[in-house]
Amino acid sequence: MDIINPATEELVATVPDSTREDVDAAVKRAAAAQRGWAALAPGDRARHLRRFADAVDTHLEELARLEVREAGHPVGNARWEAGNARDLLEYAAGGVERLTGAQIPVAGGLNVTFHEPLGVVAVIAPWNFPMPIAAWGLAPALAAGNAVLLKPAETTPLTALRLAELALEAGLPEGLFQVLPGAGPVAGDALVEHPGVAKVVFTGSTAVGKRIMAKCAAGVKRVTLELGGKSPNIVFADADVERAAAAAPGSFLDNTGQDCCARSRILVQRSVYDRFMELLEPAVTSFTVGDPADPATQMGPLISAAHRERVRSYVPETAPAAIRGEAPAGKGFWYPATVLEGRPEDRTAVEEIFGPVAVVIPFEDEAEAVRIANATDYGLSGSIWTRDVSRAVRVSRAVTAGNLSVNSHSSVRYWTPFGGFGQSGLGRELGPGALSAFAETKNVFIAADPLTESS
Ligand code: NAD
Repeated sequence: MDIINPATEELVATVPDSTREDVDAAVKRAAAAQRGWAALAPGDRARHLRRFADAVDTHLEELARLEVREAGHPVGNARWEAGNARDLLEYAAGGVERLTGAQIPVAGGLNVTFHEPLGVVAVIAPWNFPMPIAAWGLAPALAAGNAVLLKPAETTPLTALRLAELALEAGLPEGLFQVLPGAGPVAGDALVEHPGVAKVVFTGSTAVGKRIMAKCAAGVKRVTLELGGKSPNIVFADADVERAAAAAPGSFLDNTGQDCCARSRILVQRSVYDRFMELLEPAVTSFTVGDPADPATQMGPLISAAHRERVRSYVPETAPAAIRGEAPAGKGFWYPATVLEGRPEDRTAVEEIFGPVAVVIPFEDEAEAVRIANATDYGLSGSIWTRDVSRAVRVSRAVTAGNLSVNSHSSVRYWTPFGGFGQSGLGRELGPGALSAFAETKNVFIAADPLTESS
């Protein structure tokens, strides 16, 4: 598989394409390694993960530069992504000794619960945040005593392969964490179908996620799905409209809009609509687009020529737009920041474009804002801008999405839970429950004989 720099179209590397036989051999190696790993004392497992985190930290800049070249992410973002992988490993390491069971009162003995590891876990990752999303599955799965097979996206396997090398250098047992670069329908499908894989953690498109869930059903295989989104950014007239407009570009242009949490539907109360659009225009056009290796760059290219065609199929660069930014000409898969004015039922307002495109829609009152916000099959994220605390509480409870922020666009912290409602996914990652998603609860009752004359 040729790995192409999306900013220059130059060949970065060539990577082997894993076959079904490769997957089968990897599952066998992983199963063997997992037995020893699960038997380690919790403190030793935690120590291994901390060493792995240290190795990532030592190679942070190298990993970030690799991300810049294979994914076209601005280097500032890429550094954050490598740091997020390190943080996840540290956070999960802190959970190993704290994965405690319960003692539940019963008569006639002792009842205790254990969190048993699942065995071999497959993590199938997308290209939009290759390192963080790999780490979201990898770190807690290892911490809970599992082995991990990571299949990165076809376009972005390089940071995953480097992470696996760093794991070995840090002393993790051979076979415990393996990376299988390859095609989704071959290596990915082989992992999903393999009877030796106990759980699949999939992040990607809703269409592929549904197929994976159906296949997992055959073996009652555990599955976590993190899928698409079409998240609303709701701006009420009582908000600090200047702040809301200044923050809006980052919420749909960050990562060139290739973000499942992108606030790509901007709902604005009609009485402040014109003012908001006036403020949004300079905020969008001043978003710095260009060389991802330059620390001043805020937005890079799209991931591939094919993906740019997909974005163009929604909005050609020549289509009328309320606001349009600049994009470099020449080599690279560039696409300009684009803001459309639309209606809730427009295709561009309902389907995930996964590019730097937002649709602005006016609303009259709170009830209408909530109705429009909830009028998609997705439910991943959303933002609410208001100075009214009661409204913030009411609307946060009424919007059907897994991750909401008020007067902010923050949605992902490794120590808070993340996941979607509806067709945005199934299960939660990150946060205090992260390790439990990679363990089965076992209940054990131990009978105690009553005291007799002879005892
Ligand atoms: P995709 O579904 O095409 O691919 C995701 C991964 O699945 C890749 O590794 C791919 O090789 C693999 N895959 C493809 N077909 C497969 C199959 N039949 N069996 C097994 N694996 C298969 O998605 P993408 O284009 O890589 O990513 C974009 C999508 O991911 C967007 O819809 C986005 O919203 C979503 N996403 C969601 C989150 C989240 O946390 N909810 C995060 C990032 C991306």
